[in-house]
Amino acid sequence: MDLCSWCQRGALREASRKPASPRHWSRVNGWSWPLHTFQVVAWIILFILAFTNFCIFVPLLPPNWNLIMYGVTGGLFCFHFVVHLLGISIDPAETNVRLKKYLESIPTFDPSKHTRVIENQYCHLCEVVVSQKAKHCGACNKCVSDFDHHCKWLNNCVGGRNYRYFFCSLVSALASLLCLISILLYIFIQYSVNPEVLRTHPLYEGVSKDTWLLFLPFFPVKTKALVVLGIGVFVLLLSALSFLLPGYLFIFHLFLSMCPDPHSSLCPLRSHMAQDKVCRPLLETSTSDK
Ligand SMILES: [Zn+2]
Ligand SMILES: [Zn+2]
Repeated sequence: MDLCSWCQRGALREASRKPASPRHWSRVNGWSWPLHTFQVVAWIILFILAFTNFCIFVPLLPPNWNLIMYGVTGGLFCFHFVVHLLGISIDPAETNVRLKKYLESIPTFDPSKHTRVIENQYCHLCEVVVSQKAKHCGACNKCVSDFDHHCKWLNNCVGGRNYRYFFCSLVSALASLLCLISILLYIFIQYSVNPEVLRTHPLYEGVSKDTWLLFLPFFPVKTKALVVLGIGVFVLLLSALSFLLPGYLFIFHLFLSMCPDPHSSLCPLRSHMAQDKVCRPLLETSTSDK
């Protein structure tokens, strides 16, 4: 899987070399139409992991430990939910773009009149003066302040106004997944060593050894051990796969934050970018011509 498809590569570069798409409107935030498949997939995965964590796996933990993990994973999931929503909902556009309130249509870029979309800090598509670090995102069709990249999972641009929420959503997603993976590994180990440790809930009294209960404590559903283990393996694989993408981006952005000047040729990530591997727009030179 090409992890770098996260980034809308060369949005400005593409826009400046060929006529803009016939779209004459701008997207406000991640909820603006059209929704992106990745965005829908992200919410489905989040729902599956949260549901199985709270309704199936945490109730299997020994007394007290289940209360602790309800609190820890509950706090992490809630925090992730809030910052994820903020990352999607905040409009990262330039101040002058937002002041126009998206009431005006976006003209088609004419390369015969201008060489670049943004010249001398003026965007010919948004028709406003923009800041030095602004870039015109081809996917959102608007200028974004402190442009970082266009995130398909948020279906929104990540810029100065929502970068912290994007980063917090990465960190909280990783922490939540680590907790869930740890819980699953504990359950698998205990099942092979001493399954009775996982059957301490009072509702297990009088239940045969090969019967397990889902959705404790309020809606107990009897099932076989194989079903619980099958769901566990599926969720473990889903969690491990889900861990790769935010993990990769977290490490990348962590290194980027430690680089004193990511635009400098001395930054080791610049050569990585130059190969068009990750988030190229972040390290493109300023969009304003001097
Ligand atoms: Zn623009
Ligand atoms: Zn965008």
